[in-house]
Amino acid sequence: MTDTLVRRTPWPDSVSRAVVTPLQPSVVYASESPDELDAQYAGQVQGYTYAREGHPNATVLAQKIDALEGATGGLVVGSGMAAVSAALLGLLKSGDHIVGGNQLYGRSLRMMTQDLPRFGIGHSLADQTDAAAVEAALRPETRMILIETVSNPTLRVADIEGIARLARDRGILLAVDNTFTTPRGLRPFDFGADIVIHSVTKLLAGHADATLGYVAARNPDHRRAIYDMATTLGLTASPFDCWLAERGLYSFALRYDRAEENAARLAEHLAALPGVRRVIYPTRPDHPDHNRAIGLLGRRGGNMLSFEVEGGRAAANALTRAAPQIAFAPTLGDIGTTLSHPASSSHRGMSAESRAANGISEGFFRVSVGVEEIELLISEFSAAIEAATRA
Ligand SMILES: *Cc1c(COP(=O)(O)O)cnc(C)c1O
Repeated sequence: MTDTLVRRTPWPDSVSRAVVTPLQPSVVYASESPDELDAQYAGQVQGYTYAREGHPNATVLAQKIDALEGATGGLVVGSGMAAVSAALLGLLKSGDHIVGGNQLYGRSLRMMTQDLPRFGIGHSLADQTDAAAVEAALRPETRMILIETVSNPTLRVADIEGIARLARDRGILLAVDNTFTTPRGLRPFDFGADIVIHSVTKLLAGHADATLGYVAARNPDHRRAIYDMATTLGLTASPFDCWLAERGLYSFALRYDRAEENAARLAEHLAALPGVRRVIYPTRPDHPDHNRAIGLLGRRGGNMLSFEVEGGRAAANALTRAAPQIAFAPTLGDIGTTLSHPASSSHRGMSAESRAANGISEGFFRVSVGVEEIELLISEFSAAIEAATRA
């Protein structure tokens, strides 16, 4: 009796097949014999063994993102930071030096400045919009440069062409975190990147319900090193999250295009409102990297915009309170519009002076524009900004 409960019941036969990708949560995979298992480990036959080393839902998702990025053999891991960690820890060793963009994602910066030094890996930060500044930060032992295509939250556009040239001439690896731009905006491998990283959590999965990352490398030896590091550290992605993200990807192009169109229109609307000091959107003529944005991204400015209202923290509080339908949450890439306030979240650890030097005041907001009707967004933002100006 108990035996029949404990043994797995076979999956029912069916001459028809499921249309949707199955969800496979199995941690282990049974092989037929030691010979077969040997052949699997030796890579002579394809077979899964243990989910930390790989599972079908991660493979399916990785292949889909590979196709978008023009990559081969990309790896899906448990978060965007898992992807950054696997790339940095898998490819750098004691004595190496890494140059990072000075506006990198906060945790990537932290890894570079707080964690890598404990492993004997040096770092320098440089303005990623200026290849000469990056060049000046290089050392003989520089092994990698890590940049983000478009930076957070001031949406500065990296000089990816200049930096890629530099990296190629000096034999330095160029790693690009393409989370904000997505392959729909730009494919870093087309510009000479060696490694591409994503927080799949954001726009690719797109529904703020799965935490995942992706990392791909051009060179198969680098792929192997990153895979081994991720497997050793246990950066495994949950099969269910992979399944959700794959489902999210079916509508990625539609979501992205709509959100981008909304963002461009919302930016235009905000720029004309009284009380708005400035609007940052890469393809706007007043953006500091306007020409580069047009050259690299075409007219594709993405779904992210930032703006600044007059009036400091009181105005900022009034603004979010007057827009309860727009989630005030420190994330991005959800299907719905979200609003974040760097001074109280991602950049709270910075002194007010260094925030000011980066153009991030108490009235500074970042918007991840979603796919709502543009008229709704315009009316909600108008009301919120009016409330801010009255505060
Ligand atoms: C969110 C984010 C990350 C980290 O991703 P998680 O999935 O949250 O770990 C890395 N880089 C950028 C640019 C991000 O926006």
